[in-house]
Amino acid sequence: MTGFSFTRKPRTAREQALLAASERTMACGIRGPSLRAENQMVVERAQGSHLFDCSGNEYIDYLLGSGPMFIGHAHPAVVAAVARQLEAGSSFLLGNEPAIRLCEAIVAAVPCAEKVTLHNSGSEAAHYAMRLARAYRRRDVILKFEGGYHGMGDDALMSNQWTFRPAEFPVPVPNSAGIPAGVAGQVLVAPFNDLDRTEQIVRRHADALGGIIVEPLCRTTPPVPGFLPGLQALARELDIPLIFDEVVTGFRLAFGGAQVRYGVVPDLCALGKAISAGHPLGVVAGRADIMDLAGAATAMTPRHVRLTGTYSGNPVSAAAALAVIEELKTPGIYEAVEARGRRLQMALARSLEQAGIAAQVVGEATAFQPWFTAEAVRDHRSTLRADWGRGLRFGDLLLDRGIIKGHEKFFLSTAHTDDDIDYTIDAFEQVAGQL
Ligand code: PMP
Repeated sequence: MTGFSFTRKPRTAREQALLAASERTMACGIRGPSLRAENQMVVERAQGSHLFDCSGNEYIDYLLGSGPMFIGHAHPAVVAAVARQLEAGSSFLLGNEPAIRLCEAIVAAVPCAEKVTLHNSGSEAAHYAMRLARAYRRRDVILKFEGGYHGMGDDALMSNQWTFRPAEFPVPVPNSAGIPAGVAGQVLVAPFNDLDRTEQIVRRHADALGGIIVEPLCRTTPPVPGFLPGLQALARELDIPLIFDEVVTGFRLAFGGAQVRYGVVPDLCALGKAISAGHPLGVVAGRADIMDLAGAATAMTPRHVRLTGTYSGNPVSAAAALAVIEELKTPGIYEAVEARGRRLQMALARSLEQAGIAAQVVGEATAFQPWFTAEAVRDHRSTLRADWGRGLRFGDLLLDRGIIKGHEKFFLSTAHTDDDIDYTIDAFEQVAGQL
């Protein structure tokens, strides 16, 4: 028996009117976790691990705004820190204590971080990390991995997880209209978890390569033993900066990120949503000799790398991130969230197996997803024959029971309770039988 229950209340006139207005005016529409019209919602508020729509429905939230709410929605320490900062001003483009303290906290916690720059989104952080690498190497080409996501920059939108018709490696495939054709000439693509193929591509193109960018946990596919250390050794031998995109994993997989969890230190990393509790933040951190290209020493020289924007180092996002990092120092907090996540992940795999459904539950305890395929998942291509329709139906059936997940992942937060997990495990058993 769990405390949570769900019976969907009819949509109020207010929510109906808001949804109708969104269709008339919002170019991208509302991005709900479901494609079904009856599942669209307008959020009223969220607290901890639960989210409430404008019709008074309460949901258990494993979408978490696509990951940033790692310590839960509206965490009191974050609310207090942000409120304090709002009273003191929101943006200066000048030095401020929260931004300075945040950079100090990142240098203290993240192994690769000798110097830090602050920005507004993960997309920006990944884009700027690539620019720094290119400037350091004085070369233009970036190697990325098929299926890896690095945000909305033109280089990043190549051969990511929305690549349904991949090309022969290392040729990239654009994931959006509007990307200049020339971008394809400055990106190479390698298979994640295949060190031999990657090494062949890197050695063949070493002279053109400005950097290598990788999600250490590629979407939800963990690195096989040896892959990240091998990549690091190769990059080091050829003096090509290795960038970890830790926008999802930074401070989620461990205090200090995937580089702590997997024990491999890159040259640069991009951090973002997992540390600022929903406040716009992107962070580039890394080796001082590379990061210093953005500093005063190169100013007014052709070597200088420009990275600043109006909101860079804004104190509100920095105050939020400092509060999150402080909370994540709580003894036992990672052990507790990982134990709950692992219980959920294992229960999902068990429910699907008992129902005779071909599926792989892939990922880490706080970020995982089911792939509806009989094939073992080790890279993007092994997911291409997965049954997407079944994946969407799975999400819809959970939503009918008051459980929200993203199109892809389940994200766990430190605010999820045993009751949330027990209710969700019961729902898995019911839903698996209906798939
Ligand atoms: N890199 C990774 C690994 C991400 O998951 C994301 C966001 N999903 C980004 C970059 C882009 O971050 P943002 O949406 O904040 O621009």
